[in-house]
Amino acid sequence: MRVVRIREHGGLEQLRFEEAPVPAPGPCEVRVAVRAVGLNHLDTWVRRGVPGHTFPLPMIPGCDGAGVVDAVGPGVTSRKVGDRVVLAPGFSCGACPACAAGRQNLCRHYGIFGEMRDGTCADFLVVPERNALALPEHVPFEVAAAFPLVYLTAWHMLADRAELRPGETVLVHAAGAGVSTAAIQIARLLGAGRVIATTSTAAKAAKARELGADDVVDYVREDFVARVRDLTGRAGVDVVVDHVGRATLPGSLKCLAKGGRVVSCGATSGQAVEVAMNLVFFKSLSLLGSTMGGLGEVHEVLGHVAAGRLRPVVDSVLPMSAVAEAHRRLEARDVFGKIVLVPEAVS
Ligand SMILES: [Zn+2]
Repeated sequence: MRVVRIREHGGLEQLRFEEAPVPAPGPCEVRVAVRAVGLNHLDTWVRRGVPGHTFPLPMIPGCDGAGVVDAVGPGVTSRKVGDRVVLAPGFSCGACPACAAGRQNLCRHYGIFGEMRDGTCADFLVVPERNALALPEHVPFEVAAAFPLVYLTAWHMLADRAELRPGETVLVHAAGAGVSTAAIQIARLLGAGRVIATTSTAAKAAKARELGADDVVDYVREDFVARVRDLTGRAGVDVVVDHVGRATLPGSLKCLAKGGRVVSCGATSGQAVEVAMNLVFFKSLSLLGSTMGGLGEVHEVLGHVAAGRLRPVVDSVLPMSAVAEAHRRLEARDVFGKIVLVPEAVS
């Protein structure tokens, strides 16, 4: 089978096409013939490397994918050959107290496909049976591959960590990012009274409105803190979804109303942030961290996608041979939503 493999960290040239043996499923595992792969920023970090973090190279990248079950290992009961499936992007031990509680992302052995073990940029991959969720016939593979990681992330941030309540006001940074497109829709679905998004271009602003943002702030031309104050009559917002970090977090805290929560799933602009503790205690603020979510939440999100209540945003569908171009566009932020890659044989 053909795979994309990263042997050393570096530039786009490190995305090498190789031949590899087709893997065999072990007990309680299924083999999936991949039909579509969703690209995430995590793929670019695995390729470039992250200072202070060790990825187990060589690695087949790709966290998100959808396809057809092609073989099942001993003991598999819930899936059969020919089933359409979408993959839950995280795996865990399945036996510890966190896993038993359905909070797999808190498992000490939690990992993500394409980050801690081989991922979806391959003709086939083997996953635990519980990671292969039945995909309804009417959801195309390209749409299915576009949602799991970012919608799981955004769902866990808003529903679980920030405990968003109906009527609350939400600020979502960088509306074009995959997790932000998800957060805007999920905030709406959970009953947010108002969703404010920030973005950098008029075209992205229009798309953010289509997704459900009531107001869009141009963070290049405007001071987002001042604009949010104006838009909320100086009250501030109840929840901020922040994955930008250093460039936005101090402002995110200033934007919060009393009792507000900022929930962070990343810090793409820098990790070290100075926090004004007087704001935090005086306004009873919460600074919440969030990574991925539980397996049950993947099922929950899939239910909303299948019912049309959440609509994954696909920026473009490219052949797998364009994986380097896809990485380049993602790094240049030249996307709105997800880039999906399709293996050539079935494209
Ligand atoms: Zn566990």
